[in-house]
Amino acid sequence: MDETGAAGPPPGPGESGFPAYRAVRCSGFAELDAQVVRCRACPRLVAWREETAAHPRAAFRDQEYWARPVPGFGPADAPLAIVGLAPAAHGGNRTGRMFTGDASGDFLFAALHAVGLASRPTATDRDDGLELYGVRVTAPVHCAPPENRPTPAERRTCRPWLSAELELLAPGLRTVVVLGAFGWQALLPVLGEAGWAVPRPRPAFGHGVQLTLPATARRRELQVFGSYHPSRRNTFTGRLTFDMLVELLARAAALAGPGRPGAG
Ligand code: SF4
Repeated sequence: MDETGAAGPPPGPGESGFPAYRAVRCSGFAELDAQVVRCRACPRLVAWREETAAHPRAAFRDQEYWARPVPGFGPADAPLAIVGLAPAAHGGNRTGRMFTGDASGDFLFAALHAVGLASRPTATDRDDGLELYGVRVTAPVHCAPPENRPTPAERRTCRPWLSAELELLAPGLRTVVVLGAFGWQALLPVLGEAGWAVPRPRPAFGHGVQLTLPATARRRELQVFGSYHPSRRNTFTGRLTFDMLVELLARAAALAGPGRPGAG
Protein backbone atom coordinates (compact mmCIF):
# COMPACT_ATOMS: atom_id res chain seq x y z
CA MET A 1 0.00 0.00 0.00
CA ASP A 2 1.11 3.57 -0.55
CA GLU A 3 0.82 6.34 2.04
CA THR A 4 -2.79 6.98 1.07
CA GLY A 5 -3.64 3.40 1.89
CA ALA A 6 -4.21 2.38 -1.73
CA ALA A 7 -2.78 -0.95 -2.78
CA GLY A 8 0.02 -0.73 -5.32
CA PRO A 9 0.40 -3.09 -8.23
CA PRO A 10 1.51 -6.59 -7.24
CA PRO A 11 5.21 -7.32 -7.73
CA GLY A 12 6.09 -8.80 -11.08
CA PRO A 13 8.21 -11.92 -11.66
CA GLY A 14 11.42 -9.89 -11.80
CA GLU A 15 10.92 -8.21 -8.42
CA SER A 16 12.29 -9.57 -5.16
CA GLY A 17 8.84 -9.49 -3.57
CA PHE A 18 7.29 -11.75 -6.20
CA PRO A 19 7.73 -15.11 -4.38
CA ALA A 20 6.40 -13.75 -1.06
CA TYR A 21 3.41 -12.14 -2.77
CA ARG A 22 2.51 -15.01 -5.10
CA ALA A 23 3.33 -18.10 -3.05
CA VAL A 24 0.74 -17.51 -0.34
CA ARG A 25 -1.95 -16.97 -2.96
CA CYS A 26 -1.49 -20.37 -4.59
CA SER A 27 -4.29 -22.78 -3.72
CA GLY A 28 -2.78 -25.94 -5.18
CA PHE A 29 0.33 -27.46 -6.69
CA ALA A 30 -0.61 -26.76 -10.30
CA GLU A 31 -0.86 -23.06 -9.55
CA LEU A 32 2.21 -23.05 -7.33
CA ASP A 33 4.37 -24.84 -9.87
CA ALA A 34 3.18 -22.53 -12.65
CA GLN A 35 4.06 -19.46 -10.60
CA VAL A 36 7.47 -20.79 -9.53
CA VAL A 37 8.40 -21.34 -13.15
CA ARG A 38 7.68 -17.65 -13.95
CA CYS A 39 9.96 -16.33 -11.22
CA ARG A 40 12.92 -14.06 -12.04
CA ALA A 41 13.37 -12.55 -8.58
CA CYS A 42 17.11 -13.30 -8.20
CA PRO A 43 19.10 -11.48 -10.90
CA ARG A 44 22.31 -13.45 -10.35
CA LEU A 45 20.54 -16.80 -10.63
CA VAL A 46 18.48 -15.74 -13.64
CA ALA A 47 21.71 -14.74 -15.37
CA TRP A 48 23.41 -18.00 -14.41
CA ARG A 49 20.61 -20.32 -15.48
CA GLU A 50 20.49 -18.60 -18.87
CA GLU A 51 24.26 -18.37 -19.22
CA THR A 52 24.54 -22.11 -18.57
CA ALA A 53 21.89 -22.81 -21.19
CA ALA A 54 23.77 -20.69 -23.69
CA HIS A 55 26.91 -22.79 -23.09
CA PRO A 56 25.70 -26.39 -22.84
CA ARG A 57 28.03 -29.26 -22.10
CA ALA A 58 29.22 -31.02 -25.25
CA ALA A 59 27.07 -34.07 -24.48
CA PHE A 60 23.94 -31.90 -24.37
CA ARG A 61 24.69 -29.57 -27.26
CA ASP A 62 21.65 -30.70 -29.23
CA GLN A 63 19.27 -30.16 -26.30
CA GLU A 64 17.30 -27.11 -25.35
CA TYR A 65 17.91 -26.29 -21.71
CA TRP A 66 14.96 -25.56 -19.44
CA ALA A 67 16.80 -22.51 -18.01
CA ARG A 68 13.97 -21.58 -15.65
CA PRO A 69 13.10 -22.30 -12.03
CA VAL A 70 12.60 -26.01 -11.43
CA PRO A 71 9.38 -26.84 -9.53
CA GLY A 72 8.99 -29.68 -7.05
CA PHE A 73 8.24 -33.14 -8.41
CA GLY A 74 5.94 -35.82 -7.02
CA PRO A 75 2.38 -36.32 -5.78
CA ALA A 76 0.52 -33.59 -3.93
CA ASP A 77 -0.39 -35.89 -1.04
CA ALA A 78 3.11 -37.24 -0.46
CA PRO A 79 3.79 -38.14 3.20
CA LEU A 80 7.54 -38.03 2.53
CA ALA A 81 9.46 -35.05 1.16
CA ILE A 82 13.05 -35.11 -0.05
CA VAL A 83 14.74 -31.74 0.06
CA GLY A 84 18.03 -30.94 -1.67
CA LEU A 85 19.45 -27.45 -1.99
CA ALA A 86 19.06 -26.27 -5.59
CA PRO A 87 18.97 -27.69 -9.13
CA ALA A 88 22.24 -28.46 -10.89
CA ALA A 89 23.24 -26.27 -13.82
CA HIS A 90 23.38 -29.16 -16.32
CA GLY A 91 20.91 -31.39 -14.48
CA GLY A 92 17.61 -29.91 -13.35
CA ASN A 93 18.34 -26.65 -15.10
CA ARG A 94 18.66 -28.62 -18.34
CA THR A 95 15.79 -31.08 -17.95
CA GLY A 96 13.33 -28.99 -15.93
CA ARG A 97 12.82 -31.64 -13.25
CA MET A 98 14.46 -31.91 -9.83
CA PHE A 99 17.53 -34.20 -9.71
CA THR A 100 16.90 -35.30 -13.29
CA GLY A 101 19.78 -35.67 -15.69
CA ASP A 102 22.82 -35.65 -13.43
CA ALA A 103 24.88 -38.09 -11.36
CA SER A 104 23.24 -37.10 -8.07
CA GLY A 105 19.82 -37.83 -9.48
CA ASP A 106 20.95 -41.15 -10.95
CA PHE A 107 22.03 -42.20 -7.46
CA LEU A 108 18.94 -40.84 -5.71
CA PHE A 109 16.33 -42.27 -8.06
CA ALA A 110 18.02 -45.68 -8.12
CA ALA A 111 17.82 -45.70 -4.31
CA LEU A 112 14.18 -44.55 -4.35
CA HIS A 113 13.38 -47.34 -6.79
CA ALA A 114 15.16 -49.88 -4.59
CA VAL A 115 12.91 -48.86 -1.68
CA GLY A 116 9.76 -49.02 -3.80
CA LEU A 117 9.25 -45.27 -3.96
CA ALA A 118 9.90 -44.76 -7.68
CA SER A 119 8.56 -46.52 -10.75
CA ARG A 120 11.98 -46.85 -12.37
CA PRO A 121 15.61 -46.51 -11.31
CA THR A 122 16.62 -43.88 -13.85
CA ALA A 123 15.61 -40.30 -14.58
CA THR A 124 16.64 -38.78 -17.88
CA ASP A 125 14.09 -36.13 -18.85
CA ARG A 126 10.66 -34.76 -17.97
CA ASP A 127 8.95 -37.21 -20.33
CA ASP A 128 10.69 -40.40 -19.23
CA GLY A 129 7.59 -41.77 -17.50
CA LEU A 130 9.12 -41.75 -14.01
CA GLU A 131 6.54 -41.71 -11.21
CA LEU A 132 7.22 -41.21 -7.53
CA TYR A 133 5.09 -43.03 -4.97
CA GLY A 134 4.32 -41.04 -1.85
CA VAL A 135 7.39 -38.84 -2.29
CA ARG A 136 7.81 -35.24 -3.39
CA VAL A 137 11.29 -34.02 -4.28
CA THR A 138 11.94 -30.32 -3.92
CA ALA A 139 14.49 -27.71 -2.85
CA PRO A 140 14.70 -24.44 -0.91
CA VAL A 141 16.18 -22.73 -3.97
CA HIS A 142 14.57 -23.39 -7.35
CA CYS A 143 17.22 -22.02 -9.71
CA ALA A 144 20.68 -23.40 -10.37
CA PRO A 145 23.31 -21.28 -8.58
CA PRO A 146 26.96 -20.79 -9.57
CA GLU A 147 29.19 -23.28 -7.71
CA ASN A 148 26.00 -24.83 -6.33
CA ARG A 149 26.02 -22.09 -3.69
CA PRO A 150 23.04 -19.77 -3.40
CA THR A 151 23.66 -16.69 -1.28
CA PRO A 152 21.78 -16.19 2.00
CA ALA A 153 19.75 -13.44 0.29
CA GLU A 154 18.78 -15.76 -2.56
CA ARG A 155 17.76 -18.44 -0.07
CA ARG A 156 15.57 -15.91 1.73
CA THR A 157 14.01 -14.64 -1.50
CA CYS A 158 13.14 -18.16 -2.66
CA ARG A 159 11.93 -19.36 0.74
CA PRO A 160 8.22 -18.52 0.23
CA TRP A 161 7.94 -21.07 -2.56
CA LEU A 162 9.05 -23.90 -0.27
CA SER A 163 6.92 -22.55 2.59
CA ALA A 164 3.90 -22.69 0.31
CA GLU A 165 4.80 -26.18 -0.85
CA LEU A 166 5.09 -27.37 2.75
CA GLU A 167 1.78 -25.70 3.56
CA LEU A 168 0.12 -27.71 0.80
CA LEU A 169 1.87 -30.93 1.82
CA ALA A 170 1.37 -30.43 5.58
CA PRO A 171 -1.94 -32.28 6.06
CA GLY A 172 -0.32 -35.58 5.08
CA LEU A 173 3.38 -34.90 5.59
CA ARG A 174 5.10 -37.22 8.07
CA THR A 175 8.79 -37.29 7.21
CA VAL A 176 11.39 -35.18 5.43
CA VAL A 177 14.79 -36.35 4.24
CA VAL A 178 17.27 -33.50 3.78
CA LEU A 179 20.16 -34.09 1.41
CA GLY A 180 23.30 -32.32 2.58
CA ALA A 181 24.33 -29.79 5.21
CA PHE A 182 23.43 -26.78 3.08
CA GLY A 183 19.93 -28.11 2.50
CA TRP A 184 19.65 -28.76 6.25
CA GLN A 185 20.64 -25.18 7.07
CA ALA A 186 18.21 -23.86 4.50
CA LEU A 187 15.26 -26.07 5.42
CA LEU A 188 15.09 -25.75 9.21
CA PRO A 189 14.21 -22.02 9.16
CA VAL A 190 11.51 -22.74 6.58
CA LEU A 191 10.01 -25.43 8.78
CA GLY A 192 10.03 -22.98 11.68
CA GLU A 193 8.26 -20.34 9.63
CA ALA A 194 5.78 -22.92 8.40
CA GLY A 195 4.62 -23.65 11.94
CA TRP A 196 6.76 -26.51 13.19
CA ALA A 197 8.64 -26.16 16.50
CA VAL A 198 12.30 -26.27 15.47
CA PRO A 199 14.60 -26.45 18.53
CA ARG A 200 17.14 -23.70 19.35
CA PRO A 201 20.00 -23.94 18.85
CA ARG A 202 19.23 -25.72 15.63
CA PRO A 203 20.48 -29.33 15.68
CA ALA A 204 23.65 -30.04 13.73
CA PHE A 205 23.50 -31.88 10.44
CA GLY A 206 24.83 -35.40 10.09
CA HIS A 207 24.08 -38.49 8.05
CA GLY A 208 21.44 -40.50 9.87
CA VAL A 209 20.52 -37.70 12.26
CA GLN A 210 16.83 -37.94 13.07
CA LEU A 211 15.04 -34.91 14.44
CA THR A 212 11.52 -35.16 15.83
CA LEU A 213 9.54 -31.93 15.56
CA PRO A 214 6.63 -32.27 17.99
CA ALA A 215 3.06 -31.56 17.04
CA THR A 216 1.95 -27.95 17.44
CA ALA A 217 -1.42 -26.22 17.24
CA ARG A 218 -0.96 -25.99 13.47
CA ARG A 219 1.16 -29.01 12.63
CA ARG A 220 1.33 -32.72 13.25
CA GLU A 221 4.58 -34.34 14.40
CA LEU A 222 7.27 -34.40 11.73
CA GLN A 223 10.37 -36.58 11.51
CA VAL A 224 13.33 -34.95 9.78
CA PHE A 225 16.32 -37.02 8.64
CA GLY A 226 19.71 -35.81 7.54
CA SER A 227 21.49 -37.61 4.70
CA TYR A 228 24.76 -36.92 2.98
CA HIS A 229 24.06 -35.40 -0.42
CA PRO A 230 24.33 -37.92 -3.28
CA SER A 231 26.85 -35.69 -5.02
CA ARG A 232 29.48 -37.26 -7.20
CA ARG A 233 32.10 -36.26 -4.63
CA ASN A 234 30.32 -38.11 -1.82
CA THR A 235 29.39 -41.20 -3.81
CA PHE A 236 32.74 -41.63 -5.59
CA THR A 237 34.66 -41.38 -2.33
CA GLY A 238 32.33 -43.82 -0.58
CA ARG A 239 31.27 -41.24 1.98
CA LEU A 240 27.73 -42.04 0.90
CA THR A 241 27.20 -45.57 -0.36
CA PHE A 242 24.12 -46.84 -2.14
CA ASP A 243 23.27 -49.07 0.82
CA MET A 244 23.54 -46.13 3.23
CA LEU A 245 21.04 -44.11 1.24
CA VAL A 246 18.68 -47.04 0.73
CA GLU A 247 18.74 -47.80 4.45
CA LEU A 248 17.96 -44.21 5.37
CA LEU A 249 15.18 -43.86 2.79
CA ALA A 250 13.66 -47.12 4.02
CA ARG A 251 13.63 -45.78 7.60
CA ALA A 252 12.01 -42.55 6.50
CA ALA A 253 9.46 -44.37 4.33
CA ALA A 254 8.52 -46.71 7.17
CA LEU A 255 7.79 -43.72 9.40
CA ALA A 256 5.79 -42.05 6.65
CA GLY A 257 3.22 -44.66 7.57
CA PRO A 258 0.60 -46.86 5.99
CA GLY A 259 -1.10 -45.57 2.92
CA ARG A 260 2.23 -44.79 1.30
CA PRO A 261 1.85 -45.93 -2.31
CA GLY A 262 4.36 -48.63 -3.02
CA ALA A 263 4.34 -49.89 0.55
CA GLY A 264 4.05 -53.60 1.13
S1 SF4 B 1 15.90 -18.89 -6.91
FE1 SF4 B 1 13.72 -18.87 -6.36
S2 SF4 B 1 13.25 -16.71 -5.92
FE2 SF4 B 1 15.19 -16.75 -7.06
S3 SF4 B 1 14.61 -16.51 -9.22
FE3 SF4 B 1 14.72 -18.70 -8.81
S4 SF4 B 1 12.63 -19.31 -8.24
FE4 SF4 B 1 12.76 -17.07 -8.08
